[in-house]
Amino acid sequence: MPSQVIIAGAGPTGACLALLLAERGIEVMLVEAAKRFDRQFRGQALMPSGLAALKEMDLDSIAETVPHQRLDAWEFWIEGKRLFRAEEPIEADGPPCTLMSQPEFLAAVVERAKACPNFEFVPGTTVQGLEKEGDRITGVSLSDGRTIATTLVIAADGRNSTLRDKANLSLAPQRSFKTGDGSIDVLWFSLPELPPVRKENVFYAIVENGHSFGFFRNSQNQTQLGWGMSKSKDVDANATNWRSTDWQQTIIDHSPHWLAQVLQTQSDPAVWKPTLFSVAVALAPQWSKPGFLMLGDAAHPMSPVRAQGINMAFRDAIVTANHLVPLLTADAETTQIYPKLDVALASIQAEREPEIRRAQALQAAELAQGELLHNYPILRWGASQFAPIVGLGVKQSWLRRQRQLRLGVIQVELKV
Ligand SMILES: Cc1cc2nc3c(=O)[nH]c(=O)nc-3n(C[C@H](O)[C@H](O)[C@H](O)COP(=O)(O)OP(=O)(O)OC[C@H]3O[C@@H](n4cnc5c(N)ncnc54)[C@H](O)[C@@H]3O)c2cc1C
Repeated sequence: MPSQVIIAGAGPTGACLALLLAERGIEVMLVEAAKRFDRQFRGQALMPSGLAALKEMDLDSIAETVPHQRLDAWEFWIEGKRLFRAEEPIEADGPPCTLMSQPEFLAAVVERAKACPNFEFVPGTTVQGLEKEGDRITGVSLSDGRTIATTLVIAADGRNSTLRDKANLSLAPQRSFKTGDGSIDVLWFSLPELPPVRKENVFYAIVENGHSFGFFRNSQNQTQLGWGMSKSKDVDANATNWRSTDWQQTIIDHSPHWLAQVLQTQSDPAVWKPTLFSVAVALAPQWSKPGFLMLGDAAHPMSPVRAQGINMAFRDAIVTANHLVPLLTADAETTQIYPKLDVALASIQAEREPEIRRAQALQAAELAQGELLHNYPILRWGASQFAPIVGLGVKQSWLRRQRQLRLGVIQVELKV
């Protein structure tokens, strides 16, 4: 079947956009490299902006049926002392930050799209190349040997996007004088459900001896622990040899007493084998070419700090549907819509880029706060010694900084 739109990648960006377009009568082919939705997924946390986007897309009912956990609070610990605690939901009239299982969610979204006769899902297949006629991208070649013509190719193939390279588009690292580039390496551990997050689901951020890590209970009732290794300095002597490091002991050595006691009981070596995620934060100066558009991490790889990527992916999908649906459902010959389509693709970037830039800058600023504590032991000492007094001021400043990270920067509504 020739499709009006071919989307590469069924992550949060591609799956949601495919559903929005298919349910509005547009012919969509969604091509996903993985055979099943059971690859290791990177994130689960949805901010109120992401939850609102789910509602806009009429996907909140799906989100309710897949495994999810609401966060009860955030706690920040420094050198063994609690600096402050912020209860969820932070906004009096808003929902709490929620952790949702991506595999089940994406499978359910694609399942719903399959009810549309104009939707085709091609799992276990990669989009390998782009077909061109002059300046216009007019189709794709797939790993199953097929070449398929289309009006529009959408690259939602994630941070290491193949299609970005094939389209000769590039990423520019995000840099800011004050905050650095926001890049970070994260070691990701999945531990059994531990007592500190069993009774209530608190996101703990721990800074001790110049190291920082966070943990929470994920939607599968595991304790998800992320150990941060900044790229800007040699923060971590273990970073060079992370595979052979005794992580149980290392993390115990950098934990407050109550946590060290709990971690001591986790003697299964398998749970101390982390996955390393190298997270470069970047933004493509140009998201589109005639017949081609990049979205989600392919256009703007996000940092895991304060959970923005999935939320931004949903919001990209909504804005894109607003621009594309009127054009692609118009009763016109394909070639007649080309000029308007190319304008629409540029408009999508223009509408989304300011929010992405702001979110990435805020993420980098959050990371820079941690770096500051890492670099200045005197600050850590002061914060821990005077935690009850300092904590109040730090909490107010933290709450103010969270507003846009939680609610988004612009109003995003589905209009089609
Ligand atoms: C450690 C870590 C933790 C994170 N935690 C959070 C969090 O809690 N909350 C949050 O909001 N964000 C989080 N993020 C960011 C978030 O994971 C991403 O921003 C988000 O997944 C981007 O969605 P996407 O659909 O654009 O890309 P992806 O989720 O990367 O999906 C891309 C899809 O494309 C497929 N694909 C790749 N190449 C091809 C190809 N050539 N052809 C066909 N298919 C292809 C892949 O298999 C994949 O399914 C985290 C990131 C990291 C690294």
